[in-house]
Amino acid sequence: MNKKATGTPVGILGGTFDPIHYGHLRLAEEMLELAHLQKIYFIPAGTPPHRESPQVSAQHRSAMVKLAIADQPAFVLDSREVERITPCYTVDTLRELRAELGMALPLCLLMGGDAFLQLHTWHEWEQLFDLAHIVVGYRPGFTLVDRIHTATPALRSHYQQRLCNADDLSQHPAGGIVELAIPKLEISATLIRSRVAENRSIRYLLPNAVADYIHQHHLYTHAKH
Ligand code: ATP
Repeated sequence: MNKKATGTPVGILGGTFDPIHYGHLRLAEEMLELAHLQKIYFIPAGTPPHRESPQVSAQHRSAMVKLAIADQPAFVLDSREVERITPCYTVDTLRELRAELGMALPLCLLMGGDAFLQLHTWHEWEQLFDLAHIVVGYRPGFTLVDRIHTATPALRSHYQQRLCNADDLSQHPAGGIVELAIPKLEISATLIRSRVAENRSIRYLLPNAVADYIHQHHLYTHAKH
């Protein structure tokens, strides 16, 4: 955390986005505002190392992200992971972004509190701190500090040493951990997939353009969660 930074911090939001919904979009919008980010890259996962394969193709998931973020100029689709054939880890994507954007720009990896507490399971997880800050959203009233005792000792130690404020993000290119209180909408991609399979409405859970795309392409019509 001692390198000099230049430029307004950029956020990175990875996910399966199977499909993207208002939970993701509100998380991004809140983080854009509270962490004073200039933009957020939405990076749909290709073949996620940590979970079962997504239900629809990478091209469909990417197309839905593009539709969902079309009216927010600060949100950008980055399809690099879906275009790769081999499995791709976040640490590799961050290395690529660093090579493109330079070493001085503050990069912020955005995630929810549950994901953060599992960070030690990510490939080369301790390298992540050399490449980016980590910005963690938690539900108001459920602070990370109350749950950090459930993390591994190594992760707990990083948390204790690296915790800083949103205003500090622009001071260094990487290495900090920031927590932001963000109301969590009770929406998940799993819920949307099961609603579609049951032929039920998904309106108001995700942008209309994405709902229309799902129906036009007959996505998620077979139950599989
Ligand atoms: P699934 O239901 O298929 O597990 P998901 O809806 O949780 O999917 P992901 O693509 O796995 O979506 O999530 C990407 C990121 O968005 C993760 O960091 C996750 O914590 C966050 N996220 C997902 N849903 C919400 C939500 N409702 N509110 C805030 N953050 C969310």
